[in-house]
Amino acid sequence: MYNVKSHKAEEFIDDVEIKETLEYAAANRDNRALIESILDKAALCKGLTHREAAVLLDCNIPDLVERTFRLAEEIKKKLYGNRIVMFAPLYLSNYCVNGCIYCPYHAKNRHIPRKKLTQEEIVREVTALQDMGHKRLALELGEHPVENPIEYVLESIRTIYGIHHRNGDIRRVNVNIAATTVQNYRKLRDAGIGTYILFQETYDKQKYQMLHPTGPKSDYAYHTEAMDRAREGGIDDMGIGVLFGLSGYRYDFVGLMMHAEHMEAALGVGPHTISVPRIRPADDVNPDEFSDAVPDDKFLHIVAAIRCAVPYTGMIISTRESSKVREKVLDLGISQISGASRTSVGGYTEPERDEDTAQFDLADKRSLDEVVKWLIELGYIPSFCTACYRAGRTGERFMKICKSGKIQDCCTPNALLTLKEYLLDYASPDTMKAGDELIRREIEKIENEALRASLKRDIASLEAGKRDLRY
Ligand code: SF4
Ligand code: SF4
Repeated sequence: MYNVKSHKAEEFIDDVEIKETLEYAAANRDNRALIESILDKAALCKGLTHREAAVLLDCNIPDLVERTFRLAEEIKKKLYGNRIVMFAPLYLSNYCVNGCIYCPYHAKNRHIPRKKLTQEEIVREVTALQDMGHKRLALELGEHPVENPIEYVLESIRTIYGIHHRNGDIRRVNVNIAATTVQNYRKLRDAGIGTYILFQETYDKQKYQMLHPTGPKSDYAYHTEAMDRAREGGIDDMGIGVLFGLSGYRYDFVGLMMHAEHMEAALGVGPHTISVPRIRPADDVNPDEFSDAVPDDKFLHIVAAIRCAVPYTGMIISTRESSKVREKVLDLGISQISGASRTSVGGYTEPERDEDTAQFDLADKRSLDEVVKWLIELGYIPSFCTACYRAGRTGERFMKICKSGKIQDCCTPNALLTLKEYLLDYASPDTMKAGDELIRREIEKIENEALRASLKRDIASLEAGKRDLRY
């Protein structure tokens, strides 16, 4: 029985409710009056229910699909401006006891080398990331109680926060580890993580069980209830996502919306981010074997519908997607992207070898400088900001500031200051020139005179050698 406030997976992600929602959406896909009323509601930036969001995604009326896209763009512009936050994944270990059939790190794959970074190797990887200009990392590692215990994760986080190479430092470490206990979540919180990220992969329990035949991850309920335990452990900044293509996208979209509603209703804070990866080729993984692959046009529709349904939740896209697709979804609602990623263990310092195995093939292989320049040329401000988490603006407090619109007074100045730091310390001459012009233009757009003056002073301080200024 569906119960948004329950802490039981089968009640807050109720299969019957999802199927009825899909039937409702299919029955109303040509219902112009209803779809227009949903779009009007979404335009208020107060969010949509999972049923309303499902109707938007299933909408079969071309001009209203187009309106959904335009509205997503408007919401994106209104709440996120033209800023795009940058991050990089850091793979610590590919040891894994799980049997996920879509991932080359699954335990039965005997033809990939297994590797776990030592603390010295982490120092080298992080130094390389700092030398590119990254300030925000997402740690990735397989589930392995012996090779990757929580102590290893905690020690690695301490190591990463302790590395300061030239003007570089990692100011926010997000963590993507397997579902774990309340006690371990408390340890992660105490270690000062930014966001705890865990993808559901698919909300369809039957499909989930086929895709996860062995290992602790095969326990659907334990995995699905992970955010509830994380919250109990004191974490208030959580990121969810599905791997589109594993199962029917409609089902997973509704599941994702129900999970977001559950977090808001039962945990007091909605998801900080939603990630929208799509399945990619990798060793032992052929996406053609997954019949639910999502085509580009539907993928864009999914991004637009999510933007309309959960306006205050950041949306992340990785280098799994080509620059062409990334360019399109930036307008529709994506607020964070990875740049210059390596998805193999040790990939930032070791030249690629034939036997190296990435978790998935990258479609966008450009350097961070190239990505930054590309964003600037598209009119976006690449932002290396990590201010909120460091100023204690997380969880409910963060959402309140977001919903009041006051966050804008922080985001744009911080984006410009962190971009300026990047330009001074890491950019190529061309990127520096384009970036400085963008900063000049963007400062002049700031209406508040005092803020404009203060920002100009801060930019001058950065030029004089100061670092890490923030609002
Ligand atoms: S998806 Fe994660 S848990 Fe599954 S095999 Fe890959 S690394 Fe292990
Ligand atoms: S000010 Fe806060 S919300 Fe805005 S970009 Fe920085 S960390 Fe994100």
